[in-house]
Amino acid sequence: MPESPAKLIDGKVYAERLRAEVTAQVAELKASQGLQPGLAVVLVGDDPASQIYVRSKGEHSLAAGMHSVTHRLPQDTSQEQLLALVAELNSDPLIHGILVQLPLPKHLDERAVLAILNPEKDVDGLTMISAGRLASGLPGLYPCTPMGCLILLRETLGDLSGKRAVVVGRSMLVGRPVAQLLLQADCTVTIAHSRTADLPAVCREADILVAAVGRPRMIKADWIKPGAAVIDVGINRVPFDDPEKAAAGRTKVVGDVDFKSASQVAGWITPVPGGVGLMTVAVLLQNTVTAAKRQAGLDV
Ligand code: NDP
Repeated sequence: MPESPAKLIDGKVYAERLRAEVTAQVAELKASQGLQPGLAVVLVGDDPASQIYVRSKGEHSLAAGMHSVTHRLPQDTSQEQLLALVAELNSDPLIHGILVQLPLPKHLDERAVLAILNPEKDVDGLTMISAGRLASGLPGLYPCTPMGCLILLRETLGDLSGKRAVVVGRSMLVGRPVAQLLLQADCTVTIAHSRTADLPAVCREADILVAAVGRPRMIKADWIKPGAAVIDVGINRVPFDDPEKAAAGRTKVVGDVDFKSASQVAGWITPVPGGVGLMTVAVLLQNTVTAAKRQAGLDV
């Protein structure tokens, strides 16, 4: 294999930088306003991946100097109990951001939770008000992973105006908000999904290709326009290539893009792990500071 021509977009570097900026903002807010941004994370049940994400959110918010509270509720928590906790956090003056870790156990209604969550504290950007603000091009709290994608693209390419962008995936969590943000950045945006005809040809038009599908290594080198910037949001667990490790049941994380071949064609590419995933928590911290400033009537 020749050496990869694609330059790596290193999520670690940009996530560390953003977290350092947030830490400085928190220190400044404490010193000048006596305001300590507060984040509450709510986890229901014992999903192993969610537990890891929630622990990381708690640790990073504390490290940034924030007030940080994690509520771990049992798997059999009722809808009423969960709604009561969210209502309590809505009116807690020490809490400026609330994140309810998704997915919730099957017996709980995600939409009902988001419906009562105070949009001013919606640091995950998932309420209807936040989605509406984003779709209307108004300032607001935007979803963290999509914002992470945009930050990586701006840091890498600078001005995105006029670029052809293709987003594969149309979920409320990733695909749609990424597309909205790219539109706000004056890209010409196509949203592709499971019913898109000739997906490889659609992808080949992209100067910016964002993959948010959830299918391991689906996007191949010949789907990519030479020199394109490729942002891989996918997090997929697959068995190791090594048959011995695979037989032992060991798994590894790969993206939606076939990184090895794609990096021979792309101009820029995010690795998985080590790319977009690291940005999510950093943006969550930034959103919490933004929410705290707004609630205190300060300029953002
Ligand atoms: P969803 O399952 O909600 O959405 C997947 C989207 O991909 C859907 O719009 C679906 O289309 C589309 N799709 C599925 N199969 C195909 C196909 N064969 N061809 C074209 N499109 C297809 O997933 P999410 O948006 O929540 O997540 C996407 C990926 O991103 C996952 O791997 C997830 O783990 C990861 N993720 C990573 C995060 C991070 O921090 N890095 C955060 C959140 C998610 P349709 O609508 O037609 O069904």
